[in-house]
Amino acid sequence: MGVRTVFKGLFVAFLASACVSGASAAPAPANAPLPVAMPEPESRFYGFLRDFKDEALKAGIMETTYDRAVLGIKLNPRIEELNEKQPEFVRPIWDYLASIVSEARIAKGKGLIAASPSLFARLQDTYGVPAEVLTAIWGIETAYGQNEGTYNLFEALATLAFDGPRMDYGRRQFIAALRIAEVEGRDPVTMKASWAGAFGHTQFIPTTFLESAVDGDGDGKRDVWDSPADALASAANYLRKSGWVPGQTWGEEVRLPEGFAYDQAETNLKKSISEWTGLGVRKISGEPLEESTDQAAVFLPGGYRGPAFLVRNNFDVILKYNAATSYALAIGLLSDRMKGLPGIQASWPVDELPLDHSSSTALQDSLTALGFDTGGSDGVLGRQSRAAIRAYQKARGLPADGFATPELLTRILNERSALQ
Ligand code: CA
Repeated sequence: MGVRTVFKGLFVAFLASACVSGASAAPAPANAPLPVAMPEPESRFYGFLRDFKDEALKAGIMETTYDRAVLGIKLNPRIEELNEKQPEFVRPIWDYLASIVSEARIAKGKGLIAASPSLFARLQDTYGVPAEVLTAIWGIETAYGQNEGTYNLFEALATLAFDGPRMDYGRRQFIAALRIAEVEGRDPVTMKASWAGAFGHTQFIPTTFLESAVDGDGDGKRDVWDSPADALASAANYLRKSGWVPGQTWGEEVRLPEGFAYDQAETNLKKSISEWTGLGVRKISGEPLEESTDQAAVFLPGGYRGPAFLVRNNFDVILKYNAATSYALAIGLLSDRMKGLPGIQASWPVDELPLDHSSSTALQDSLTALGFDTGGSDGVLGRQSRAAIRAYQKARGLPADGFATPELLTRILNERSALQ
């Protein structure tokens, strides 16, 4: 498999560099004398590593493991920057989907499935998760192993654990990562990761690895970095443990009737398929929905003017892999395309750009001032903000899809300033 060969090459390079630094037998920075002119944050970072060692030892980690893991790691300024960054610009979902569900990614995924029929058949039998869903995760997480992350896992987690908005996460994951090194007999310096501490072909974080990683290729080791079979089996096991229903689809694009009550479209508002049929929901082709005992929800990722999807339990399970609904939709659509199903039929409202962070904050402020409580103004339009938008839309006789558009923002800002 081409991907595996490429990754093996990288892996050898990692090992080689690890040998170079290991051969110098330099003392761990935790024990090293501090240079006099060392800037304050760095010296506090090494102080943190010394203090955190007690916590690791209390958690049952061996001293040699800890010292080896922190050998040569630094406070990483790039990770600090990424950790503090608030995404101001929000990418429209149609742009995101177009780049993620690309012809190249579809073709490569189909090729990889065809290259390992027995592996994927075994994963389907054992976990009930189809090849296309696992391959879609593999393709989106790391471009099939090409972008697994090149940070030292312990440097990434120590930087997050030291300061900033992810300190608790960083500390918990740091201990879990040390445990992985021990239980897997793995040299910590070979454990590469993304800046956020996710690693391997399907980007597990350390606690998820400890709970759900499995040996997919039968060599007795769980190596999600170098073995795609291990990474895919681990992803399948994680999905199954998270409630994956074998044989069920993630969802499908549907057609909503004229006059549909858009306040029914919320991913946590589940109804039976027959209820949706009763409300006039049809397949995108116009045919009736197939009868089923599944519960489902209507999802409008681009508001009422865009495509509509009927999503089922397995959509929620994908959200446990990554909590963004756009991610779960991308996985579903990419897996469909690998199966040979068509892409999205309806068109997107490409004239409506999503609101950026400060516009979303202004929207929340104004809605709350007008009596539609968004539960605070954090610039993130979550469920409570969508409920407030719907309440506003209903009160003004607009389609209550809960979707924020520039037009809606202008209307609400004007209404608020007229009050003052
Ligand atoms: Ca293995």
